[in-house]
Amino acid sequence: MAKNQTFTLNRRDFLRIAGLGAGATAVATVTKSAAAAPAATFAAGKFSDPAGRPQRPWWVKSVDEPTTEIDWNMMQRYNERTGTVRGPGMAGYVGDDEVDRLTEAAAKNELERMLNNVDGYTLKDQAMYSSHVGVGRTFLGPQKAKTPEERGVPKWSGSPEEAAKILRSALRHFGAATAGFIELDDNTRKLIYGVDPDGKDMIFTDDPIASEDDNARYLPNSCKYVVVYTVQMSSETMRRCPTPLGAQTTSLAYKRGEAIQASLQEFLRGLGYQGLGESSTNALGIAPAFGVMAGLGEMSRLNRLITPEFGPMVRVFKLLTDLPVATDKPIDAGIMEFCKRCKKCAEACPSESLSFDDEPTWETRGGWNNPGHKAYFENSVTCYTYWREQAGTNCGICFSVCPFAKKDKAWVHDWVKAGASTAPFMDSFFRSMDDAFGYGTQASAEEWWDLDLPEYGIDSNQSVREA
Ligand code: SF4
Ligand code: SF4
Repeated sequence: MAKNQTFTLNRRDFLRIAGLGAGATAVATVTKSAAAAPAATFAAGKFSDPAGRPQRPWWVKSVDEPTTEIDWNMMQRYNERTGTVRGPGMAGYVGDDEVDRLTEAAAKNELERMLNNVDGYTLKDQAMYSSHVGVGRTFLGPQKAKTPEERGVPKWSGSPEEAAKILRSALRHFGAATAGFIELDDNTRKLIYGVDPDGKDMIFTDDPIASEDDNARYLPNSCKYVVVYTVQMSSETMRRCPTPLGAQTTSLAYKRGEAIQASLQEFLRGLGYQGLGESSTNALGIAPAFGVMAGLGEMSRLNRLITPEFGPMVRVFKLLTDLPVATDKPIDAGIMEFCKRCKKCAEACPSESLSFDDEPTWETRGGWNNPGHKAYFENSVTCYTYWREQAGTNCGICFSVCPFAKKDKAWVHDWVKAGASTAPFMDSFFRSMDDAFGYGTQASAEEWWDLDLPEYGIDSNQSVREA
């Protein structure tokens, strides 16, 4: 498909919609109820599920296998230190001189844009970008909370369902949006990095107590439960990317994730269990893959996680524990299927780094991709080059234009989501609607400073999202 091609509702789509029958009725019902829904009010209900699983939209189906095909035999544990373009990996792909050139270009642009008051690059935007301070990430956690032993009581015990429920309650209270759990087996263990971003080996061990030294982190085999959770990002700032104001969207979510991890580690310690976290941003394991396996979302053309509730507007975090928890299954919400026909992110990407292929493929595009799953692999080198050379910050245009990224204000949004899982042949129509309503357009950063937004610029009510 040609870049910048405009989607229009063609006659074939229209006739198909007209003949939708039951599917159309279902979509129309959702549309009507979404349009008629009252403004959100806060009222605490009780969990209807023993493991505290939230009620999800009706079009989210629980499935045995994820919508991303996986060949576990092909998959190896990944070396995060040298693999991705985030750290020293970039120099491995393009050389030190090119990295230096990009660093200089970013610094020059930053200064010029600030001096010229370029929208989104002004001093106040830069000040916002450098304002987020975290509590720090550690593999073993702060280890300050009193243990049950120190209190003179037995450690907490309960069923795996009760354990999942209290972890979900705690995580939501700490600021997470959604949470899911899996139990590591010989396959999913491959999603834990072989080498962490700081170069330490990640070694599974029979020793029941986790530890680390200068060269390695030791992960007890008994810490086989993975807690996976998301933190929402503000779509209002993200649609101001690529600017420092847009870029701080992700850094704020990472800092919030940092605090949540530390709290979760201390909560587990207080219960008498271990919580092994990310030692730095994106450490421990492959976040989107864990998100998929825990049923929080599906992979997408972005080669990132898209959740039914918040689209791609989340960051995903993970932690290992020896507290047995009730586990979750992958989902099919029609998201991967929708991506096959949408391609909006690939068209919007200024560096043409995203795939235009109709179908996902096993063929990776470079060492930054981990083989063993069928995906829309991206070119991380051209993406990162754009970040440094042009944007001067991270980018995120592809996230903000995605039809799943929009707030639920508009009925068309529910319509798009519902149709994605119930009537895949309507996807190009839904994509046209998203375009026609002007969603996915970037906005002025200056205008953001006039907006009266809720905490963190997000709506934290996941079931009624009208704000
Ligand atoms: S972050 Fe920007 S440059 Fe990178 S893939 Fe997305 S749109 Fe393209
Ligand atoms: S913009 Fe379209 S193709 Fe890209 S991730 Fe979103 S739904 Fe998929």
